[in-house]
Amino acid sequence: MSAPTKTKADVRRPDLETLYCINEDGSHNTIHPADVKGRFQNLKKTTWAFLIAIYVVLPWIKVGGHPAILVDLPNRHFFLFGKIFNAADFWLFFFVLSGVGLFLFFLSATYGRVWCGYGCPQTVFLEGVYRRIERWIEGGATARDRLAKMPWNREKIIKRFSKLGIYLLIALFLSHTFLSYFIPVEVLLKAVTSSPAAHPAAFTFILIFTAIIFGNFTWFREQLCLIVCPYGRLQSALYDPDTIVVGYDRRRGEPRGRYNKEGEHGDCIDCYRCVAVCPTGIDIRNGTQMECVGCANCIDACDVVMDKVKKPRGLIRYDSENGFEGKKTRILRPRTILYMGIMALWLGGFLYAVMGHAPFDAELIRLRSDTLFTIEKGKIRNQFRLQLTNKTGSKQKFEIRTLSPKTAEFILAEKAPELDSLESRNIPVFVFVPEKDYKQGTLVRLEIHSKAGTRVVKAPFLGPRK
Ligand code: SF4
Ligand code: SF4
Repeated sequence: MSAPTKTKADVRRPDLETLYCINEDGSHNTIHPADVKGRFQNLKKTTWAFLIAIYVVLPWIKVGGHPAILVDLPNRHFFLFGKIFNAADFWLFFFVLSGVGLFLFFLSATYGRVWCGYGCPQTVFLEGVYRRIERWIEGGATARDRLAKMPWNREKIIKRFSKLGIYLLIALFLSHTFLSYFIPVEVLLKAVTSSPAAHPAAFTFILIFTAIIFGNFTWFREQLCLIVCPYGRLQSALYDPDTIVVGYDRRRGEPRGRYNKEGEHGDCIDCYRCVAVCPTGIDIRNGTQMECVGCANCIDACDVVMDKVKKPRGLIRYDSENGFEGKKTRILRPRTILYMGIMALWLGGFLYAVMGHAPFDAELIRLRSDTLFTIEKGKIRNQFRLQLTNKTGSKQKFEIRTLSPKTAEFILAEKAPELDSLESRNIPVFVFVPEKDYKQGTLVRLEIHSKAGTRVVKAPFLGPRK
């Protein structure tokens, strides 16, 4: 007996109650979005090419002899376009994170998920690299769907394994690229060409990260945006009726109908192209949905249809809820003004912090010993170490000047040390204060001077209770 034929009613259509990429039994419903051409696709391709070039090339660029961007975790250094930060500057990292968060809030409140559609690495590599390779090997959406449903035969084995082989190579390349933000490229290249046993930690990281990238872009795909990404979940809190999103002009499109006799139907001819091209499998005509990643595929697809039926473009377009209702869209409104104000404050604070970032660290630390002080020939002796770190990309010459106590005698192991880039040095400092001059609360103060700046360090001088 032959299997019953699927009727139109049996074909699953996107709705507002379920995630289209998840089947009723919880399995992944693989989406094969159809190809689309148009102005937003061109804009995305150019943006993605530019971003991929930046991601890949940045670790190779040197500024002042160091990588343009490098997070050197073992040595606790962070290189950023010639500036060098160390563990003491870690607070700046939270500054940067909060700035990125603020910017994304502002972007979402004004232009919805434009970051997701154009700038997020998940989209950039899924749509700009992996999906393109899939199309190149397996063909268009219908051919890919047919291949997925066909039993394993020669054609399917060749196509699937060629695709997965290339996917794996790209995952390997991406995991190495990612690692090159943490290990200088020269060191990484050396590690790659030597035995894994010589670099077990880096090798394990590469294996795990390659597997994650491969799994994500081969199978998990849009589920990352819809289920995992917290930014996507925040959208409903950030949107308001003036937020510009990808939307469907219901007033113009409805009632939809295939045979658009003048006056009988709206402009939507219910061709389903906007759904067929959607990478998350939603029907934008059901209204703004959390699953929309703002990719604008449906805008380009519908514009082509509108051109064919000789109607004006923009049935699906970037507009606000107010705009779709024929009202004015306000870009400047209390919410966006507040975000801009906070961003301006943040930017001022950040620039001040970076500009004022010290070119060296200096700290005067008491030496650990059994006694806090000793008394010899009428003089109280305290021992310290001056910890100096050169945070610039080149050699730095220092001069250490003694400021107080005025009557003290200082013995410094080095008075004019020269430190290589990123070198740290401990300089022993002995301070002798005549007993008669000693008072409780006496401070030892040293001035550290270099061409890049001057700092004063201090530490309490201890003696017998008086
Ligand atoms: S592509 Fe445009 S015309 Fe076709 S179904 Fe979607 S909204 Fe309607
Ligand atoms: S609804 Fe349109 S903009 Fe949103 S994800 Fe689908 S195709 Fe992209």
